[in-house]
Amino acid sequence: MDDCIFCKIVNKEIPSTKVYEDDKVLAFKDISPEAPVHIVIVPKEHIRSTNELNENNASIVAHIFIIINKIAEEQGIKDSGYRIINNCGEHGGQTVNHIHFHLLGGRNLSWPPG
Ligand code: 5GP
Ligand code: ZN
Repeated sequence: MDDCIFCKIVNKEIPSTKVYEDDKVLAFKDISPEAPVHIVIVPKEHIRSTNELNENNASIVAHIFIIINKIAEEQGIKDSGYRIINNCGEHGGQTVNHIHFHLLGGRNLSWPPG
């Protein structure tokens, strides 16, 4: 999608620090990290949010969670623990309208979030 920041990152029109890539998924470091490890995982397909998931496209979510498992191990946070966040819509704090999952770790994260 033309004016989508994450599509531009996927297409390498905007640089990012890549952590993982395959034919379906890109993972990169968040530009404004909230924790020592803060990685954003996106499908290459432009899906606007969790609201757009359905029987035809939702298998990407299982794939992303398997990738998160691998990334957590590589980043050394698998045993200490981590948090996966998907913000959806205005009240959910979604600022980029391309579905994505935040992987946060490397410190003790507070709960509940603000
Ligand atoms: P959201 O608030 O939509 O759940 O998360 C969007 C995330 O994308 C934010 O944490 C923000 O810091 C990150 N972000 C926004 N623009 C860019 C960018 O150009 N590059 C990178 N690496 N991260 C970005
Ligand atoms: Zn997009």
